[in-house]
Amino acid sequence: MAHIVIDTNRCKGCYFCVKYCPKQIITISKQYNAIGYFPAELSPDKKDLCTGCKTCALMCPDTAIEVYK
Ligand code: SF4
Ligand code: SF4
Repeated sequence: MAHIVIDTNRCKGCYFCVKYCPKQIITISKQYNAIGYFPAELSPDKKDLCTGCKTCALMCPDTAIEVYK
């Protein structure tokens, strides 16, 4: 099944992935990461909706997202 893995400690909180995921399944964590940002995270209850389209990974300026299909 398609899914993504976000390296939360690389994330600088731009939220392009949150905005551009066509399935709207990425949200903002309530926990700071190691570099002081609230990172993006995959919504646990919506993770099965990922199509593996790679939009999030292509948008991410910090190459923090890997997509698996
Ligand atoms: S696009 Fe990358 S840096 Fe921006 S919020 Fe998403 S994971 Fe973080
Ligand atoms: S691969 Fe596509 S559907 Fe899956 S989280 Fe990224 S943008 Fe959303």
